[in-house]
Amino acid sequence: MKAQSYFSRDYAEARARFLEAARAAGARVESTVHPLRGPAGEELAMDAAWIGAEDAPRVLVLGSGTHGVEGFCGSGCQLAFLDRLAAEMPAGIAVLLTHAHNPYGFAHLRRVTEENVDLNRNFIDHDAGHPANDAYDAIHGFLLPEDWDGPGRQAADRAMMAFIASRGLETFQAAVSGGQYDHPDGLFYGGLRPVWSNRVMRAAYRKYLAGRDRIALIDYHTGLGPRGHGELIDASIGGNIALTRDWYGADEVTSPAEGGSVSAPVSGVLPMAAQDVTGRDRIGMIAIEYGTIELMEVLTALRGDNWLYLHGDVSSPLGHEIKAEMRRAFYGEDEAWCRDVLDRSEEIIRKALAGLSGS
Ligand SMILES: [Zn+2]
Repeated sequence: MKAQSYFSRDYAEARARFLEAARAAGARVESTVHPLRGPAGEELAMDAAWIGAEDAPRVLVLGSGTHGVEGFCGSGCQLAFLDRLAAEMPAGIAVLLTHAHNPYGFAHLRRVTEENVDLNRNFIDHDAGHPANDAYDAIHGFLLPEDWDGPGRQAADRAMMAFIASRGLETFQAAVSGGQYDHPDGLFYGGLRPVWSNRVMRAAYRKYLAGRDRIALIDYHTGLGPRGHGELIDASIGGNIALTRDWYGADEVTSPAEGGSVSAPVSGVLPMAAQDVTGRDRIGMIAIEYGTIELMEVLTALRGDNWLYLHGDVSSPLGHEIKAEMRRAFYGEDEAWCRDVLDRSEEIIRKALAGLSGS
């Protein structure tokens, strides 16, 4: 069977197949419908599927689509899990599959939510104030050119390359992607209050994870690192990284805070909402980050998408071109990539289940 067969052409197909496979696996399914619709008028929702005893002490959590368009990957891995592994779960372990955390972004091929918010920067304590990102302030202007195919873009690109030449790519990546809370029209904007997807995910984690003994959470992402490779990134931010290093291997789990990860240090990631419910000692949380295309090409896609919603027309030929680039930046799509993604996912899920089964 081709690995590609688990991956869907669009959000609507991914959702329909997920619901069907979840029910076939005996899951209890609960859908939270989004207030907006998809590009073809389809319903959008975050769908949660629970497999196993209601009072299972240990839970494996697999999440997809935190970053919208990255949901092609996570949804494919969830479908493969339902088809290949769900029937052989060890005793005492239940599974929670959360499908399309940001269904708007998945359906519209955007990384952000309908509020232009990076959901994985939105889980901070908004009452405690918002962190400054001075380096982002300095580059905001040239990330967002006035035109996408004219002199404005060329000038912006020159300024961006000059910044990288003088400050280095790593500093640039940290400035862009670390998260910022001062430019609602900008990139990697974390928002000033919990967005719809944040509230829905918090409610789901409260409902399904409170009071469990042990939880392994895996959140699927794409767009950073070598093509097809799945890096395991600590998602606990000061939490229990020792637990995930024990389960997956000390050399396997990278920490943006320590350096040496494809991700820059970030604030406000979604798994923190699960840790808030369970307490830090009971949960091991990772993001699995699969590479697609080159970092600067991914950034160009994100800048184009940002420009499109500020100044452009999604239905124009240029709009279609930018959308195709977004898809290419966050979904590898070919058979080799899909196979690498599924093999790595299955390897990690098996390690998570072994970890949960231990003491
Ligand atoms: Zn992501």
